Amino acid sequence: MAKKKERLDLVQSTRNFLAYAMRHKGLFFAVLLVALVIETGTVAERYIFKLVIDDGTSHAAGTLSSSDFAHALLLALGLYAGLLLVKTASKWLSIHFLNMLDGRIIAEIKRKFFDHIIDLDHKFHTTHKTGSLISRMSRGGRAVETMMDAVVFNFAAMVFQLSVTMLALLTIGWLPVLVIFLTSIVFVGYSLLIFRAQSEAGHVANATEDVERANLGDILANVDSVKYFGREEAVKRKFFDLTERTRLAFMRSWNYFRHSDAGQMVIIGIGTAALLAIPLLGLLRGDTTIGDAVFVYAAYTSVVGAMYGFVGGLRSYYRAAIDLESLYYYDRFRNGIEDAPGAKRLVVRRGAIAFNDITFSYHGSPLFEGLSLEIKAHEKVALVGRSGSGKSTLVKLLYRLYDVDGGEVCIDGKDIRSFRQESLRSELSIVPQECVLFDDTIYNNVAFSNPRASRTQVRAAMRFAQLDRLIKQLPKGEQTIVGERGVKLSGGEKQRVSIARAILADRKVLVLDEATSSLDSQTEHDIQRDLERLMRGRTAIIIAHRLSTIMRADRIVVLERGRVVQQGTHDELIAQQGVYRNLWELQRGGYIE
Ligand code: ATP
Ligand code: MG
Repeated sequence: MAKKKERLDLVQSTRNFLAYAMRHKGLFFAVLLVALVIETGTVAERYIFKLVIDDGTSHAAGTLSSSDFAHALLLALGLYAGLLLVKTASKWLSIHFLNMLDGRIIAEIKRKFFDHIIDLDHKFHTTHKTGSLISRMSRGGRAVETMMDAVVFNFAAMVFQLSVTMLALLTIGWLPVLVIFLTSIVFVGYSLLIFRAQSEAGHVANATEDVERANLGDILANVDSVKYFGREEAVKRKFFDLTERTRLAFMRSWNYFRHSDAGQMVIIGIGTAALLAIPLLGLLRGDTTIGDAVFVYAAYTSVVGAMYGFVGGLRSYYRAAIDLESLYYYDRFRNGIEDAPGAKRLVVRRGAIAFNDITFSYHGSPLFEGLSLEIKAHEKVALVGRSGSGKSTLVKLLYRLYDVDGGEVCIDGKDIRSFRQESLRSELSIVPQECVLFDDTIYNNVAFSNPRASRTQVRAAMRFAQLDRLIKQLPKGEQTIVGERGVKLSGGEKQRVSIARAILADRKVLVLDEATSSLDSQTEHDIQRDLERLMRGRTAIIIAHRLSTIMRADRIVVLERGRVVQQGTHDELIAQQGVYRNLWELQRGGYIE
C-alpha cells in the first residue's frame, strides 16, 4: 500500500513539474530540439570516424588510391568541422534556453507558494513552523531546476542518443541494435526498481531533516532563554540526537546505492561482451569491416555513458521530486476563512461592534459558549480578566482570524462574514499584544501600516508614540535597523513602534491589546493622554491588566472563562463586590492615576 502511494506521488510530482514546463512550451521544446541536434552530432562524429577507418584499411590493403583516400580525408575533415560548428552553437543555445526556462519556472513556483501561503489563514500559520516552511520553499524551487536539468541533459539525451545510435547501427545489422536495446532496457529497469525502494527512505530522511531544521530554528530563536537558564549542554545534547537521527535516516536511503551501482556494473559488463562478440565474429568470418567494429564499440561506449547519465539524472530527479512534493504539501491547504461569494467591501460608517451569542473553541476545547457583547459606535470599552480568559481571542474573532462556531460578529449591524476579509481588516487598527517587527528601519516599520502616508504623517505618528526621544539618541535616527523581529529595541520601544503604526493606520476602530504594558509609568501616563485624544470619534477596545490604564473607559467588561461576569464604569464596578474590585484593591497605589 505504502509503495503504491509513493509511486503515485512520483507521477503527481512529475505532473506538477510538467505543468510548469508546459507554461513555456516554446522554450521547453526548443531545449529538447537542441538536445536532439547535439546527440545526433555525437553519433555522426563516430560514424565519420568509422568511414575514415574503413577507407584507411582499404588504402592499406591497396584497394583505394592515395588521391581518393586524400579526398575522403578532406571530406571527413570538412564534415567534422561543420559538425563541430553545429554542436558548439547548439550547446550554447541549449544552456541559454535552459537558463531562461529554469529562471522563470523557479521564480513562478516560489511566487505561487508564497502567495498561497500568505493567503492561508491564521490557524495554518500558528500550526506550521517557519523553519520547515522556508526550507521547503527554497528546496522546492531548486527542485524544479534539478528536474529540468535531468530531463534535458539526462533523460532526453539518453533517449535521443539511443535512438540515433540504433538507427546508425542498422547499417551494420539488427543484432547489435537488439543487444544495445536489451542492455539499456535491463539497465534502466533495474535502476528504476532500486529507486522505487529508495523513495520511501528518501521521504523519511527528508522529514527527519525537516524536524532537525525546525528545531535548530527554534533553538536559535530562543538562544537568549538558553543562556539565561544555562541550558547550553542540554540543547547541545538535543541537537546531537537530532543530527544522529538525520544521519541514520540518510544512511538508510544512501545505502541503496550499493545495490544499484554493483548491479549496473554487471549489466553493462555482460552487454559489452555480447555486443563486441558480434563484429569480432563478423571480422573472423570476413563480412564486417574494422570500421564497423570500432563504430559499434565507440557507439556503445557513449550509449553506456548516456545510461549512467540517465541513472544519475534519475537519482537527482527522484530526490528533487520528493522536494517538490513536500512543497506541494502546502497546496492541499485551503484558506479556512473564505470570503463568501459576492462578499462586499466593508466601509465602516459608525463603528458599532456586536458579538451576538457567539460560541467558539480552539481544537475542541470550548472558550466561548453564548457570549454576547455590544460596543456602541465611538464607545471605549475595556476588557479585563484573568490571563487566558479570552480577551485576545475576542479580538481575533473581530479580525476574523478565526470564524465563530455559532452566533455572529457584527460591525454596524452586519455580519462580518458578508464582507471581504481584506476590507474588514483594513478598517481596523491594532496594537497587538505581541509585537514583532520587520528587520528594517524604524521609519519603515511605522510606515508599513499605511504606505500612502506622507513623511510628515509618519513623523507625527512617531512623535505621538514618543518615539522621537528615542530616535534623537540613535546615531542613525529613524533609519536605524531594528534587527530580526525587532531584537535591537527594548520591549517598550518596540511597543511604541507598534503604537505609532496603529496611529498612522488611522482607522475607525482601534484595538489596544496590552498596548502600554511594557512602558514605564511616566511614558505610559504621557501616551495614555494622547491615546485618549486619539480615541475620540473612534470605537476602541482596550485590553489591559493594569487597571489604571482603563479606568477612564466608557465601560469596563470583566471576562472570566469566556463569560462576561461584570460590566459598568470604573466607579460602578468598585462600588460592587466582585472580581473587578478585588483586582483594584490588589493594584491600587502602585500607579499614577
Ligand atoms: P492574556 O491576558 O494572557 O493575554 P487572554 O485573555 O488574551 O490572555 P487568549 O489569548 O484569548 O487569552 O486565550 C484564551 C484561551 O485560549 C487560553 O486558554 C489559551 O491557551 C487558548 N488559546 C489561545 N490561542 C490559542 C491557539 N492558537 N490554539 C489553541 N488555544 C489557544
Ligand atoms: Mg491576550
